[in-house]
Amino acid sequence: MPDIPRPPSDRATVRRLAKRGVYDQATIYAILDQSLYCHVGFVDQNQPFVIPTIHARVGGQLVLHGSRASRMLACLAAGAPACITATILDGLVLARSTFHHSMNYRSVVVLGRATEITADAEKSAALEALVERVVPGRAAEARPANPQELQATAVVAFPLDECSAKVRAGPPADDADDLTLPVWAGVLPLSLVCGEPLPDPHLPPGTPVPRYIREYRRV
Ligand SMILES: Cc1cc2nc3c(=O)[nH]c(=O)nc-3n(C[C@H](O)[C@H](O)[C@H](O)COP(=O)(O)OP(=O)(O)OC[C@H]3O[C@@H](n4cnc5c(N)ncnc54)[C@H](O)[C@@H]3O)c2cc1C
Repeated sequence: MPDIPRPPSDRATVRRLAKRGVYDQATIYAILDQSLYCHVGFVDQNQPFVIPTIHARVGGQLVLHGSRASRMLACLAAGAPACITATILDGLVLARSTFHHSMNYRSVVVLGRATEITADAEKSAALEALVERVVPGRAAEARPANPQELQATAVVAFPLDECSAKVRAGPPADDADDLTLPVWAGVLPLSLVCGEPLPDPHLPPGTPVPRYIREYRRV
């Protein structure tokens, strides 16, 4: 029998509806890889901030980037304790009672401290990973960051050592007494869908849309 993955620490243990806590690496990595952005929570001068941003998982680390002037990047690069959250919304759960309404979701919470990536080659690789993971195939086409752009960008790596996932799936959890109420109940599935590509006005007319964009999917 394989071991059941255990929470990595007390503070990363899901307590509220603990049965929804998941700690296996494959589930956590899959949620991080599918979600297009995350929220980074940290405290600066006694004020909590929760900032949305793009992430890329590179092996056992999350890579984040931004302007050197960013408060978030400055705090993370200085090693401030932080909490990163990524969420995928899968559906609205409509129960027979308002109390049991819910959402189906997959979310990850990561706790820890980042370190700054300063070596140019490592920074460039991290920036490429950020582009590639959002639009696979793009980094091979778009111009990479030049030395000035690289200089203006801060990149940090966040270890994926202390993480939890929480997953809700399935139908509403109505009380037995409510099951006969004459109210529709069930799940309204939700997912992120891609629209038609809108060509930039500066593109020469007739420029074909690359295949990796035509076939872009996020499942
Ligand atoms: C789309 C969505 C909607 C939600 N709506 C609500 C809502 O309306 N009301 C509500 O109370 N809760 C909601 N939740 C659940 C919420 O995220 C918390 O899990 C819950 O509120 C319990 O919080 P707590 O501080 O008591 O967690 P605890 O169980 O005490 O948290 C302990 C540890 O478990 C981990 N953890 C907690 N929550 C999550 C999570 N979601 N994903 C991964 N790890 C986690 C963290 O490491 C945390 O430090 C929602 C979640 C999602 C993704």
